[in-house]
Amino acid sequence: MELLKKRILVDGAIVDGNVIKVDSFLNHQIDIDLLKEIGKEFKSRFQNEKVDKILTIEASGIAIAVIAAQYFNVPVVFAKKTESKNLDKETYESSVHSFTKNITYTIRVSKKYINEGENILIIDDFLANGKAVEGLLDIVNKAKAKVTGVGIVIEKGFQKGGKNIRDKGIKLESLAIVEGVEDGKIIFR
Ligand code: 5GP
Repeated sequence: MELLKKRILVDGAIVDGNVIKVDSFLNHQIDIDLLKEIGKEFKSRFQNEKVDKILTIEASGIAIAVIAAQYFNVPVVFAKKTESKNLDKETYESSVHSFTKNITYTIRVSKKYINEGENILIIDDFLANGKAVEGLLDIVNKAKAKVTGVGIVIEKGFQKGGKNIRDKGIKLESLAIVEGVEDGKIIFR
């Protein structure tokens, strides 16, 4: 997606060698006009697929999933990262190792909100080693629902998540794939 790639080049930064910082439009301040285009792009890439629900993970995935869902006309469910009195007792759980925080945490989705046989589109902001997406796939499998595909805003092509998901035969659509950094400049696949 050219608009997104241009924005990454103008406003993105590389931190600690391999972390892409896009705080000014995606992860802290959010550019809604750009997000609308991202939502439309996901819709066009999955237009031939059956989508009953979009599943994402808090926090950054929510905004992206919510705007995309307007083009699919489906509800959004987000996996929670912390236990809370608000959350139903009956949940599907999975364990996820965070690439950016270097901790392992449990993600949970109430059994009420993913049903057997539903077609689920997973959406997230970044794909690095694929642990967040694998946790969401695990929850979809536990619910006996079906994975329609995975939509990612920025895939880090130099980490193994994308290959692992494609090797499972899952339709993975990444709107920008960063291949690496050369002389401080981001290179796309
Ligand atoms: P994974 O589970 O694929 O290793 O990492 C994906 C998750 O980690 C995403 O949900 C995202 O929040 C975070 N993440 C991984 N790499 C980056 C990165 O380079 N920049 C940012 N902003 N977040 C990242």
